[in-house]
Amino acid sequence: MIGDGMGVSQVYAGMTANKGSLYLEKSQFVGLSKTYSADRYITDSAAGGTAIATGTKTNNGAIGVDPDGNPVKSILEYAAENGLSTGVVASCAITHATPASFVAHQPKRGMQEEIAVDFLNSDITLFIGGGKRYFNDRSDSVDLLPKLAEKGFQLAFTMDEVKELTEGRLAALVADEHQASYPERGEFLPESVMAAINLLKGNEKGFFLMVEGSQIDWAGHANDTEATVNEMLDFDRAIKVAFDYADQDPNTLVVITADHETGGMALTGGDLSTGEVEGTFATTGHSSVMVPVFAYGAGSEAFAGIYENTDILAKLLSLYGF
Ligand code: MG
Ligand code: ZN
Repeated sequence: MIGDGMGVSQVYAGMTANKGSLYLEKSQFVGLSKTYSADRYITDSAAGGTAIATGTKTNNGAIGVDPDGNPVKSILEYAAENGLSTGVVASCAITHATPASFVAHQPKRGMQEEIAVDFLNSDITLFIGGGKRYFNDRSDSVDLLPKLAEKGFQLAFTMDEVKELTEGRLAALVADEHQASYPERGEFLPESVMAAINLLKGNEKGFFLMVEGSQIDWAGHANDTEATVNEMLDFDRAIKVAFDYADQDPNTLVVITADHETGGMALTGGDLSTGEVEGTFATTGHSSVMVPVFAYGAGSEAFAGIYENTDILAKLLSLYGF
């Protein structure tokens, strides 16, 4: 689970607004991840997502390729090759940098139509997010939706449709571009995590699911403390859904981290009894600080310590036994 732009200040802003606690505190082991990219001290979400997904530091803007442009295999692709079910869920366009890093291989994050084709041609079991226009309103006039159906994907365009599907492949595109911010988008994220788990858990070999709380980052870019809190609390409710499933199936590991921090956020005041929190920001861009890694469940001890963002892949491969 990736909170885009989620540094320790974002976590504690949510914790303060929630009067002192978050579901993610149930995590048993915590580490810190170094997020710099191959070509920059401060990463973007493409290089950050690619590092987590593939264990390769790449240049800012690159999706699932190394600095020379060669495709590198993602944890999702390793899982699919090994017969596990796989999925991605994001509270933004599914072709956006973070989810794309787990599925696509393209030199530039802006190539969202090409990234949509990579989703079509991937072995992924399900995806739930926005970005429908990159599938059916394209500059090449090709409609990928019937092609997704030919590949065995059931199509869904609303959460009511998503919730009805508990087996098979699923391509859920619930917004033309991005979903609204929280609370306007409602319970999209926790409900999608529940729907995804319900579908993926049918595979007795197991599954890999990447969930992104996408808009914590956008709140940081906007230097907006209230939006940061809203997105953080929404992401935390999605974390609770994953933890609840891990409690039912003790072979489950939940890892929560970020690709980078956004905004250089600091908390300069607050009140744990009222939930007031005062944030201030050093930049409208990303910052370089290490980000937290929280782990819960089977194998969670592997995520204690201080390490490179690229070490997360090796830990996951070792735990899966791939
Ligand atoms: Mg993102
Ligand atoms: Zn950003």
